[in-house]
This record gives sequence, structure tokens and C-alpha cells, in this order.
Amino acid sequence: MSPVDLKTTGFGTRAIHAGQEPDPVTQAVIPPISLSTTFKQSAAGVHSGYDYSRSGNPTRNGFETAVAALEGGKYGLGFASGSSVTATIISTLGAGSHLISVNDVYGGTYRYFTKVASKNGVEATFVNLSVAKNIEKHFKPNTKLVWIETPTNPTLCIIDIRAIAEIAHAHGAYLVVDNTFMSPYFQNPLSLGADVVVHSVTKYINGHSDVVMGVAVTSDETLYEKIQFMQNSMGAVPSAFDCYLARRGLMTLEIRMQRHEQNAKTIAAYLEKNEHIEAVIYPGLASHPQHELAKRQQKGFGGMVSFRTKGTLDNVNKMLGHLQYITLAESLGGVESLIEVPAVMTHGSVSPEDRAVLGITDTLVRLSVGIENVEDLINDLKQALDKAYL
Ligand SMILES: *Cc1c(COP(=O)(O)O)cnc(C)c1O
Repeated sequence: MSPVDLKTTGFGTRAIHAGQEPDPVTQAVIPPISLSTTFKQSAAGVHSGYDYSRSGNPTRNGFETAVAALEGGKYGLGFASGSSVTATIISTLGAGSHLISVNDVYGGTYRYFTKVASKNGVEATFVNLSVAKNIEKHFKPNTKLVWIETPTNPTLCIIDIRAIAEIAHAHGAYLVVDNTFMSPYFQNPLSLGADVVVHSVTKYINGHSDVVMGVAVTSDETLYEKIQFMQNSMGAVPSAFDCYLARRGLMTLEIRMQRHEQNAKTIAAYLEKNEHIEAVIYPGLASHPQHELAKRQQKGFGGMVSFRTKGTLDNVNKMLGHLQYITLAESLGGVESLIEVPAVMTHGSVSPEDRAVLGITDTLVRLSVGIENVEDLINDLKQALDKAYL
């Protein structure tokens, strides 16, 4: 069998074969987990390409190669969490730098920018980027980086990646896109002009709610070298075992994402008609204000649905108490459906004033639609909503 040219293959084929060839010694179809921390050298300083597992590990490299192939990038870098990807990238900027971030960025990223990066001399400005040109007036001579997420969390606002990339580049800044919500299956920011794409692997890429991990992908050699130097120097690398699990999860990413989306579309349409629901936010609905932009820059709409219920937080809590299959928990992107109330859970640390600006009201509910049978999910929501308004 000759090696296939994976560049011309479909996503599902790459998800299975990129960075994963049978073991050359035993021909094991799934390469063994490489647990060794160190590698024998044939002469001092002469080695196989691996010398110490923090700097490089075969299981990690297999995972990094696979995600890079799925994002259409040259280089992948694995990390111990999505948050450590952020910390490591920001550490490449240096004191005296400025960055611009979308205002409804992931809570942990906001905390890192405001409470940690600021102490290390990196200043962040937060901007509503639902209209791309809003960013223009916030550039400073020392602005080195723009950080966005799209769709945003939990209000699922869509940001125009291509437009932001053009403006950032015109100001000599590079663009990082956190692509966690879409996964590489539904959106490839590098093809839209982004310089680095990052993921919390914890979510869709691993997909089974049993690994905390992160990854960054870029095609820019200079950026790759800077981030790779910091990956090795700061040392927030994932374990080989976690890389193995994430690589295994990745193999089914295509079919999982297809099912997540199919279920999400069905549930969004159902909720739009439910008498207890005030509004449904899902980029796949024609009622979403940026539906056209989502259609243009995404290959699908994903598995996250947010909605506002009628009534008060009391009704929301009652509904949550009656759910049977849909689990009340933070996080997202796993095979099981998870539900949460951002105002009191994931975004509880955001001030009430900022929550009001972002539209994170007490009755806003975020649903990470799993891959269960959709009839069961709808029945679960229906009975819980009915009981919440008795
Ligand atoms: C969860 C998440 C992160 C942080 O990743 P961890 O793996 O939890 O450290 C970053 N960005 C987004 C969009 C996330 O959902």
C-alpha cells in the first residue's frame, strides 16, 4: 500500500489517517501510546527526531499532525488545555504589547487577558465585533494581535473572519481565531485569512467529555517557531495518554458533527414553536441576524443552541430540575447533551452590567446538543418546560 496524498482526500479520511500510520515495527494499525519520557540516542546529540517528551512525543505529534491536516494548516501544537494555548500564545507578545479581543470572548480567556496578561504588561481592549469595522479605531502602534471567537459564547454572534483578518493585517497585527464552537469540520479560519486557529480540544475535537486539552494550528513558520519555543519553554504540554484519547475522538469528528448539527437544527426549530420560549438563537435559523454571514463563512451551523425562556430564573430552574437526559453541567461538545444557565454558571464572574450589555439575561439558557436520538431530547425538553410553567 503506498502512502495516500491526504491533501486531496475528504475530511473524514484525513480525520482517520493523517498522522496515523500503522506502527512500522509491529504493523499495529493503531500506533501504541508512546509513554516514554526520553529516547535513546545513537551518539551524543544524535537522535531519531525525539529526545525528550516535553519537546516532542510521537503520540502528541500524531495528534498535532491530524488537527493541522483538518484545519488546512502546516503546523499543529498540542497543549495541556485550551487555556494554556491562550497563555502560551500571549507569552510570545512581550511586555508593552496591546491586543484587541472580541468583547464576548470565552470567560477564561477574558479572565486571562484582564487578570494575568495585564500583570505581565500586555494590555487588552474588548470590542463588540458584530460589525467588523468597529475594530478600526482601537488599533494602537503597539497592537500586535487580534483575538476572536465565532460564533461567540453564549449569544452565538457571528464575526466576519475575512474582514477582521484584512483590517488586522493592514495594521500589522495578526489574527487568532478560537474555533472551538465550530470544530475544524464546520469552519477553517486559516482559509479565511486567520494566522492562528486555536481549539479547546476538551470540547468537540475530543468529544467525549473525558480529556482536558488544547491545540493551536498555523501555516506561518515564524509564528509556529515562536509558539513552539514557548510550548517547550513553558511546558504546558498534554500527556501522551490524553493525546491518544483525543486522537481516537478525532476519528469520528465528521459523523459526530453531522449528528450534532442535525439534532441542533431540529431542536432549534422545535423550540421556536414552543409556547414557553421567547427567542431561539441558532445561526442556522433564518431568524438569526447574521444567518447569511454564517452561511458564507461556515460549512454548517454546529451543535450549540441558546434560547430565552418566558418567565423568570425560577421557571428556568424548575425546567432544569425536571430534565431527564439533558444534563445540567458546564462545558460543551461532548456526545451527551449538556445544558447550562450562563448568567449563574459559565458567565457568573462577568459583572451584571457587562452581562446586560452582552445580552446574558437570567433566562438565557445554553444547550450543547448531543448525539442522542433527537426525539428523546425533544420529549425531555417538552415535558420539563411544561412542568416549569404549571
Ligand atoms: C472551554 C473553552 C476554552 C478553554 O479551554 P479549556 O480546555 O477548558 O482550558 C477556550 N475557548 C472556548 C471557546 C471554550 O469553550
